[in-house]
Amino acid sequence: MKFVDTHCHLDGEEFREDLDAVIARAREAGVSAIGVPGIDQKSCETVLDVCRRFPGYCYPMLGLHPEEVHSDWHEVLSEIKPLLLSGVPQPIAIGEVGLDFYWSREFEQEQLLAFEEQVRWSVETRQPLMIHCRKAQNEMVSILKRYKDDLPGGVFHCFTGNEIEARELLQFENFVLGIGGVLTFKKSNLATTLVGGDFKSPTVPLGRIVLETDAPYMAPVPHRGQRNEPAFVHEVLCKLSEAYGVSEEDVAYTTTETAKRVFLC
Ligand SMILES: [Zn+2]
Repeated sequence: MKFVDTHCHLDGEEFREDLDAVIARAREAGVSAIGVPGIDQKSCETVLDVCRRFPGYCYPMLGLHPEEVHSDWHEVLSEIKPLLLSGVPQPIAIGEVGLDFYWSREFEQEQLLAFEEQVRWSVETRQPLMIHCRKAQNEMVSILKRYKDDLPGGVFHCFTGNEIEARELLQFENFVLGIGGVLTFKKSNLATTLVGGDFKSPTVPLGRIVLETDAPYMAPVPHRGQRNEPAFVHEVLCKLSEAYGVSEEDVAYTTTETAKRVFLC
């Protein structure tokens, strides 16, 4: 059984000491590929470094994360864009980009402008988007709507919303929801939201979901509170299999095909 971790910050400090062992455990657990997103200019470089160390296994995604958007965003984007076009290995997505008004609205205008600029890159380069959105779905959707017919697709990463929010996101064709550790949390209603009470016509079809860890953050049960790592994506897969009433193999196959379709790799 093989499956993909579509979102994992392997270039983080947290993995500096034992990255080889982390990758070995991921392979052992059945992870066949890992998407590694950048968050700022420096991390876009370190993401490429990590992906060069594990060719054909770790795939770079490059972009400016909303929490890293400051007044110099324009300059930072002009440094990231050349990497997106000619980085080695070739980036498979633009990310992690988006809007985050949870902690602060200090750079709200800058976040909106930087996100829209990177959405335009997606239209221009045909690379899909890896989108982070927190307390900003209305603003995000209104930007995406302007480019709806021209976007190649992407992932709404770390989806934790309700049924109405899920439906609103699924209107974007070839966009899928990234589901991670939150699904396994005892207090989370996410499994019920996704299935919507009817196995036969779930609110979110299994074919619109990709697996992710967001490691080192968001470790699933029973690893909650520990450093997360790509091998743990198996816990998310198990919980999806339970929620959708299908085998683990079906979840592995379907989510892997979806990841291939979205990222064309
Ligand atoms: Zn992330």
